[in-house]
Amino acid sequence: MADPRGFLKVKRKKASERAPEERIADYTEFVRDPSKDELAAQASRCMDCGVPFCHQGCPLGNVIPEFNNFVWRGQMDEAVRALYATNNFPEVTGRVCPALCEASCVLNMNEAPVTIKDIERAIGSAALTDDGTFLPVLAQTRTGKTVAVVGSGPAGLAAAQQLARAGHDVTLFERDDRLGGLLRYGIPDFKLGKAVLDARVSQMRAEGVVFRTGVDVRAGDLRSSFDAIVLAIGARVPRDLPVPGRELENVHFSMDFLTQQNRRVAGDVVDDARAIVATGKHVVVIGGGDTGADCVGTSNRQHAASVVQLELLPKPPLMRVPENPWPAWPLIFRTASSHEEGCTREFAVMTKAFVPDARGKRVAKLAAVRAELVGGKIREVPNSAFEIPCDLALLAMGFTGPEKNGLVADLGLALDARGNIISDTTGATNVPRVFAAGDASRGQSLVVWAIADGRRVAQGISERVLQPLRANRG
Ligand SMILES: Cc1cc2nc3c(=O)[nH]c(=O)nc-3n(C[C@H](O)[C@H](O)[C@H](O)COP(=O)(O)OP(=O)(O)OC[C@H]3O[C@@H](n4cnc5c(N)ncnc54)[C@H](O)[C@@H]3O)c2cc1C
Ligand code: SF4
Repeated sequence: MADPRGFLKVKRKKASERAPEERIADYTEFVRDPSKDELAAQASRCMDCGVPFCHQGCPLGNVIPEFNNFVWRGQMDEAVRALYATNNFPEVTGRVCPALCEASCVLNMNEAPVTIKDIERAIGSAALTDDGTFLPVLAQTRTGKTVAVVGSGPAGLAAAQQLARAGHDVTLFERDDRLGGLLRYGIPDFKLGKAVLDARVSQMRAEGVVFRTGVDVRAGDLRSSFDAIVLAIGARVPRDLPVPGRELENVHFSMDFLTQQNRRVAGDVVDDARAIVATGKHVVVIGGGDTGADCVGTSNRQHAASVVQLELLPKPPLMRVPENPWPAWPLIFRTASSHEEGCTREFAVMTKAFVPDARGKRVAKLAAVRAELVGGKIREVPNSAFEIPCDLALLAMGFTGPEKNGLVADLGLALDARGNIISDTTGATNVPRVFAAGDASRGQSLVVWAIADGRRVAQGISERVLQPLRANRG
């Protein structure tokens, strides 16, 4: 274990960040890597609890006390090995995971958990070679079995990597021009620089995964050409806000706005006629979640005149309430890094209409009322109407599931009441040899869950489809 008295001697200290006023001048990451000594000191705080609740908190079951021990001892190669045993992409989770593990760390009873996410990020960096690449892990034997993976988000990438390392021939199809799903075109560069993603894709190519971008897969002959299929198509249908004025110019879905900016950072030219920019505008972001926060951070980097973020639900409590005890995820008020960069946050607000300008074409104001939660239901507060200046409205109210036309309809996949693909614990759907992973089957969620699903489905396919096939074919 790490230092048995470490947590008594060392205080929790998060990795430092560039100041908000400095970092909004660019789109590069702003979290600084801690020094080796700082990292070892933070890792020394891990108590190696008899029952490590952090394992249970992490959807990947990362062996956190083990890698903390190695980091404390300066044995980074061992730490890399321990973390890779359960997590394909620690360089990603170390940057964007909300650190469910830290919520359940025993030291979080005093609200000072081990800085597990920072340590994970550092281990992820330690796995990179001097020239910024990850060494490939090659399968010992080839099985000759073929798998198509559709979608290159974290679920598809994790499934493809696990299957390739098990010796299967994997082809990954992606509709976009670049790989990564929401890691590429959703999460902004200031949270997740794309160099690590490129390094990971190169490693997977060297491991034998064949990538085919720009292919919008329809069922066609997928099932006759491959022994098994993984659908990791995400849950990309955005929730709309059908109020008067929705059709006005400058009312957009958040993903259209975020994707354009990620493309600009990648060097693409976004056509002026289609460009959605916050520069000089009064921006209203509708939706109080992470996607909304990303819109806030991006709007500030584009020099918006003002940024307001609206949430329908009331402001959460500052501290845990008795019904939400440790080690459960704390349902409390959170401040994202983007909020620190400047934004007015309003809670319990219901948007009623987008009000046009004098020409009747563009949005000029947002009409709203105050809302309250009564008996679990949201209702309007009488006589509480107000308006907010708004010349760019960004809808960030979540997603309603995977696209229902296309692959889902072509294959005849069964959907649950929320519109997600039904699959069993191995990822198998109602269609033989077709599996589903990530947001497509669980609804819009988290990167760490997508990776966990990808790994679980890869194992399910190997055990339920590919190994029996091998046995039958001899
Ligand atoms: C703006 C934003 C910010 C987020 N920030 C965070 C964060 O900070 N931390 C966190 O943990 N989670 C975050 N999330 C959630 C996280 O990104 C998702 O849960 C995760 O990416 C889901 O992975 P996935 O592989 O299931 O799907 P996706 O990442 O959505 O990938 C699905 C891929 O499938 C492709 N595809 C779909 N249909 C087809 C087809 N027919 N043919 C070929 N390709 C197809 C799509 O083009 C896409 O690339 C964020 C989400 C959004 C929208
Ligand atoms: S993946 Fe997320 S929950 Fe799991 S150990 Fe890393 S930071 Fe914690």
